[in-house]
Amino acid sequence: MLTIGVLALQGSIREHFFCLSKLKGVQAIEVKDQETLKAIHGLIIPGGESTTMGKLLRDFNLFEPLKNRILEGLPIWGTCAGLILLARNIVGESTVHLGVLEASVKRNAYGSQLDSFIAEKNIEEVSSSPLNLVFIRAPWIQEVSDKVKILATHEEKIIAVRQNNILATSFHPELTNDLSFHTYFYGMCK
Ligand code: GLN
Repeated sequence: MLTIGVLALQGSIREHFFCLSKLKGVQAIEVKDQETLKAIHGLIIPGGESTTMGKLLRDFNLFEPLKNRILEGLPIWGTCAGLILLARNIVGESTVHLGVLEASVKRNAYGSQLDSFIAEKNIEEVSSSPLNLVFIRAPWIQEVSDKVKILATHEEKIIAVRQNNILATSFHPELTNDLSFHTYFYGMCK
């Protein structure tokens, strides 16, 4: 049995938790303190508001312990705001949060909440059938280093990447009925 956590400070926590609970061999837990952080084999950082989540990570004394665990190899998956928290650079901002993913991201790159959209894509690494990708005030990935593998692009912008133990998507697989991304991440945690 693998224990996979969802960072439970803010954002689409329940939706990821629900997806994880449907996977066989996975125990899903909410992570909001150092004890629960120690207990996991992998962690999802949900979508939400990256500025708020970054602040809460520090307020809850989770910032350094989480960063250290990621650097030691903890499998981690950031969706949307989670991607922003992982990136080493945010375009036009001096703020960097965890900074472990060698990528530059542009926040709200597709516009406001009203510009949210769903795109259908094939992402071979993750699934043999097309996936519905949900974008909500989504960032895109503007640049990556050669350590980063590009898993998907949309209209020439990078939207999903993997760097060893780090997976990041600018969209929200937890808002669809398809468990392909959660299953893929489970594979990273094994
Ligand atoms: N726009 C948000 C941010 O910058 C991310 C949106 C999301 O996670 N759906 O943090």
